[in-house]
Amino acid sequence: MVKIYLDPGHGGSDTGAVGQELQEKHVTLAIALKIRNILNNSYQGHQIRMSRSTDSTVSLAARTNEANQWGADYFVSIHINAGGGAGYEDYIHSGLSNQGTTGKYRQIMHEEIIKQVNLQNRGRKQANFHVLRESVMPAILTENGFIDHAGDAAKLKSDAFLEQIALGHARGIARVFQLSAKSSPGASSSSNNQGKTSTSKKQIHSIVDYLKSIGEDSSFANRAKLAKSYGISNYTGTAAQNTRLLKAVSSGKPSNNSSKSSAKRVHLPASASTWRTYPLNVKPVKKNSDWSLTPAAFGGLTYDILAEPYPNVVTIQTGRGKRNIYIGPDTSARRL
Ligand SMILES: [Zn+2]
Repeated sequence: MVKIYLDPGHGGSDTGAVGQELQEKHVTLAIALKIRNILNNSYQGHQIRMSRSTDSTVSLAARTNEANQWGADYFVSIHINAGGGAGYEDYIHSGLSNQGTTGKYRQIMHEEIIKQVNLQNRGRKQANFHVLRESVMPAILTENGFIDHAGDAAKLKSDAFLEQIALGHARGIARVFQLSAKSSPGASSSSNNQGKTSTSKKQIHSIVDYLKSIGEDSSFANRAKLAKSYGISNYTGTAAQNTRLLKAVSSGKPSNNSSKSSAKRVHLPASASTWRTYPLNVKPVKKNSDWSLTPAAFGGLTYDILAEPYPNVVTIQTGRGKRNIYIGPDTSARRL
């Protein structure tokens, strides 16, 4: 099940931008509800959670915390622009490239949304917005027209236009995750069979999904690098190589014995639900931890030890760059 987190911007006491007798919070909610309806009516293989489905006040931290804890596969934040200008633009975090997973997802979203809306295309952008920075999964923020531009606002007042914006988002999400279309609209008998208490732990079959789920870059370039480090030569991304790579990466073992890698590794067993990590430039004490790994969700996690800056504190490479973790004897971490 692909987990899609829809985030209608603002809400409740936070109106967002206002103009032309419109409030951003109402428009973003209307669009997000339409995206949910289109995805649920026309596609299968996904779950949707929304940061809000009514006009309620939700902090930015509450939004990203919920998506992170839920284990969302994609964070989609919907906004309306203001401040002089006209048209559509979207954002990924400023630390990310267009070639990574988040950039590739955004490219698809951008294409599908632009196909549906007759707004000026202001392009693909990057910014250090909270929801893009603090979400651990790929995230996009879309700015769907300018609320204070007479032409854009006139369109945003039309329900049919909001439907088009929603359709672009829904088709983009469906294309990104290759959701299959429902065979007949409204047919739900098959989905009832899957309805028995599903666990939140999902089976991970592909190396791309695995890397994404632990917050690592799943691009071809990074997979090729990983393949090399696990002794898989001439990686071209074949199914067989991907299967070997998934086995190797998730177990932390080289895929064959000829690997001369002498890198020391640390294993965080599945018995640990969360594992605090620390930025490199602070003392690794509890209050300085600002991000945790979740070994339990992945049957354990294994990392190369890049450095040991303090006794029992090692540096590892994560999806958020290099981080320190404490692996003293009182933890269940195992050196390999
Ligand atoms: Zn906004």
